[in-house]
Amino acid sequence: MDKWDVIIVGAGYGGLCTGALLANKGKKVLVLEKGNSIGGLAASVNYAGQILDDGAHIPLLVGHIEGVFSDLGIPFPEYTLVNKCEFYHENQWTDIKNIFPFELYKKALDAMLQLTPEEITKLDDLPLNEWVNTISDDPSIHKLFFYFGCVTSVGNRYNTYSAGEMLYILKEVIESGRVMSETGGVVKGGMNSLLQPLADFIENHGGEVKLNTPVESVEIKDGRAIGVNIETGSRLFHSQVLDIINVKAESVIVTLPLWDIFSVLDEADFPNWWTDWINWLGNKVGHVWNVMYSVDEPPFDTNMFRFVESMPRTGYAAIFFSMPTYGDEVNQNQFHICYQGHYDEYPDLFNRKNAGVRKKTREILALMEQESLELFPQVKNAYNWRVAHAAIYSITQSPGFVGYKRPSMKLPGVSNIYLVSSNVREARGIGIAAVAKCSQLAVSDIISK
Ligand SMILES: Cc1cc2nc3c(=O)[nH]c(=O)nc-3n(C[C@H](O)[C@H](O)[C@H](O)COP(=O)(O)OP(=O)(O)OC[C@H]3O[C@@H](n4cnc5c(N)ncnc54)[C@H](O)[C@@H]3O)c2cc1C
Repeated sequence: MDKWDVIIVGAGYGGLCTGALLANKGKKVLVLEKGNSIGGLAASVNYAGQILDDGAHIPLLVGHIEGVFSDLGIPFPEYTLVNKCEFYHENQWTDIKNIFPFELYKKALDAMLQLTPEEITKLDDLPLNEWVNTISDDPSIHKLFFYFGCVTSVGNRYNTYSAGEMLYILKEVIESGRVMSETGGVVKGGMNSLLQPLADFIENHGGEVKLNTPVESVEIKDGRAIGVNIETGSRLFHSQVLDIINVKAESVIVTLPLWDIFSVLDEADFPNWWTDWINWLGNKVGHVWNVMYSVDEPPFDTNMFRFVESMPRTGYAAIFFSMPTYGDEVNQNQFHICYQGHYDEYPDLFNRKNAGVRKKTREILALMEQESLELFPQVKNAYNWRVAHAAIYSITQSPGFVGYKRPSMKLPGVSNIYLVSSNVREARGIGIAAVAKCSQLAVSDIISK
């Protein structure tokens, strides 16, 4: 293979955004993906006549994702805003306006708007409930911020959510000029409608996106990455050590989540303080539990979120939403139940080699479904099929694990490797919006050199 300006490990949202932005600046880009499709945690799959999003469903539209498309000069895909919101309050579904009067809303927003970025950073290690105590002891203000927390972290816990992280995200929303209710959207055709144009852009601008090509390692010499190694040939014995070829590049971008980066980076190339930090932080993950039902009739509007503060059996905060799908004529709607948990509630969730962990995962999913379908009995016997997920979402957004407690996208002692992901300091924010922001920052750093 030729020498490339930039090699990107991974064709998830981060790899494709970064690749397209670099290709737009005239760089020759090679994106290598180990899987057989683009998208990583944001991939869309075709299942039983529907397009299903495997991970991300609802991008946060506060400018970063849209910014990537406008930098590239390509149209942003069509989307539908999820702009209505109801809470389960006193045993019934109630519009947000009935719980929080406008003056209360205003008081909370005013308190946030007065904070400077430096003041917000100082609140990174304070639990959200403790910060809210400093502005009011009114229980409805506490409830309001609990729900803000649900919106910005998919239902994280109030007393284990970083005040700085949430305030940062809410300020970004306010400063984007959009109201809260206009920041979440369902992309027509699923997340692939965001991803495919980026992959096409790379290929139409001299680059390549190669699937089924796992990177074996990033090759570093004298403090610089010189390219990546790829295995050649096929494995006859399970223990066989295959030969590798080195593909050269001026810079390398690793888009793997933080808990996976040492599958391609050799810890020996970095100082111990940094590798120890990454290995420690890489276990502090938040997780998402999700069950999708294919339904003919959604139980409520497809542009609405519904929230429950604490579900009766699991105690989890829950978010429910219905969304249209864009497949064939059957199964035109999905209904989602979605819970977010916290690393210290269930640290072993992803040790799937362990039979006990798998059993526990199924038990929790069963409880979730039971209590959720009691709230939506019309779904119970009416769905066509269901798919359950239990996944890592990202590093947890708790005190001690956000902002400067996360590593930079730049690596110590190696000047031309970047980590593009939602888990690094520069990416502060949510999911793919954070990844898009990180891509833009990495690209401007590479181009400035
Ligand atoms: C269930 C779930 C729901 C979510 N919902 C939302 C949401 O509604 N809104 C939102 O904004 N975000 C959401 N997210 C988060 C969002 O999906 C992620 O933040 C985002 O997709 C991460 O993109 P990425 O490119 O950084 O990483 P990834 O998607 O993890 O991409 C990394 C890629 O690298 C590839 N790879 C790994 N090892 C190698 C190797 N050795 N060689 C080559 N390639 C390799 C992987 O296959 C993968 O494609 C959700 C996540 C989950 C799991």
